[in-house]
Amino acid sequence: MTAAALPNRPAGMPAPNDNPVEGGLWRAAAQGRLDIQCCEACDKHRNPPSAACIHCGSFDWRWDTMPGTGVVMTYVWIPDPARKGQDLPSPYYNVAVVELDGVRGPPARIVTNIIDAWQLDDLQVGQRVELACIKLSEEVGLPCFTRVAGSAGQ
Ligand SMILES: [Zn+2]
Repeated sequence: MTAAALPNRPAGMPAPNDNPVEGGLWRAAAQGRLDIQCCEACDKHRNPPSAACIHCGSFDWRWDTMPGTGVVMTYVWIPDPARKGQDLPSPYYNVAVVELDGVRGPPARIVTNIIDAWQLDDLQVGQRVELACIKLSEEVGLPCFTRVAGSAGQ
């Protein structure tokens, strides 16, 4: 699948920023993992990546590999006219907020795409999802998700 035909990436969208603060998230996704930051001082997870802990302010942190499962908290469908003429099952893509499993401390969430959901009825709040990374290059990927069968939300 070419970058232009990815279900969740408008043509021309730049690759993720592989910098020291957030690069680990994208590099892990290239290898099929979901890594998020964990504070070395208070041992709480956080996402999105930040230089300092949102809980205690410490600048000491590490990457932890998460289970890669979670629950859709909210989502939106976005029509993309640039997708016309592409071999895709829908003129829409979704952007979802997933609350991650395995987090220490307050809930950590990720803004992502549910890449096997194409129609408006395909997503519900409470839907269980699992990691399905899209490798963009040898260096970086996108931590996306797919629906877990039989786990529709309330
Ligand atoms: Zn902390």
